[in-house]
Amino acid sequence: MHGTDVLVEDSAGGPVLPRTERVEPLLAELTGGVAAGGGVQPIALGHSGGRAYFGAGASAAVRAAPPAGLSFVPVRALLGVWDEAALDVVGRAIALVEFEGLHRFCGRCAAATEPKAGERARRCPSCGATFHPGIPPAVIVVVERDDGRILLARNARFPPGMFSAVAGFVEVGESLEQAVCREVAEEVGIRIDRLRYFGSQPWPFGRSLMMGFLARYSGGEVAVDGIEIAEARWFSRDDLPILPSRVSIARRMIDAWTISALH
Ligand SMILES: [Zn+2]
Repeated sequence: MHGTDVLVEDSAGGPVLPRTERVEPLLAELTGGVAAGGGVQPIALGHSGGRAYFGAGASAAVRAAPPAGLSFVPVRALLGVWDEAALDVVGRAIALVEFEGLHRFCGRCAAATEPKAGERARRCPSCGATFHPGIPPAVIVVVERDDGRILLARNARFPPGMFSAVAGFVEVGESLEQAVCREVAEEVGIRIDRLRYFGSQPWPFGRSLMMGFLARYSGGEVAVDGIEIAEARWFSRDDLPILPSRVSIARRMIDAWTISALH
C-alpha cells in the first residue's frame, strides 16, 4: 500500500493482489527498508477465502517507480471490479498500514513503540502508553419525504451527475442519531425525524465505520453550502441520478428503498 493506492500484479483477467512469493524477495526494496511499524515485517491482515493476507507500506520511491510487472492503482478504481471480500482485505491494509506508520513512536514520551502481544495495538516500552487503531464512526442517511421522494446530494468531488446519501463523521460527545440530524441540517439545511437503523460498512477511504440510517423529512427548505455539497435534490424512484458503486452502503440503502416501492 501507498496511502490508498494498492500494489497489484497485472494478469490476463485484470489486476490481482500479488502473491507472497512474488513480493517477499522485494519487501526491503518495496518498503524502503522500513515497513510500517519498523523493520520490514509485513502486517498480518487475516484470512479470506482460504488464503492468508499480509500488508506493508510502500516507499514513495517505489510508488513512483514500481518493480516490473507490478503497478499501483487507487483503491477507488477497484470498486465494482473486485468483490467485497477482496476490498475488505484492502480496506484493512489501508487502515493498519496507516496505523502502524503513525504510531511508530509514542505520542507521550517519543520512545519507539512495539507491537503489543495478543492485541492489534502498539505499546510504548518506556511509559506504558498503548495505541489502538482508531475507527472513526461515520453516519450516512437516506431521507424520504411523504411524497415518496428521497433527498440525495452531490458532493463537489463527485463525478458530474452522481448523487449519494448525506454522510459525515460523528463528533466527540454525539450520539449516532444526533450526528445524523446535525449532518443533514449542516449539509442540506432540512430537519428530519423517525430515524431507523439500516446497517453498517467498514469504509476504507476514511478508515472508518459507516453506519446507515433511513429517516423522514420533517421540515425546512433544502439549502447547500455550494462548496462541499454542490447540489441536493429530491428524486423519485423512476428518476434516479447516477449512483455510487454497488459495494457502497449508500447504494445498498438506495436500492433497498427502490425495491420497497414494489411492496
Ligand atoms: Zn511513551
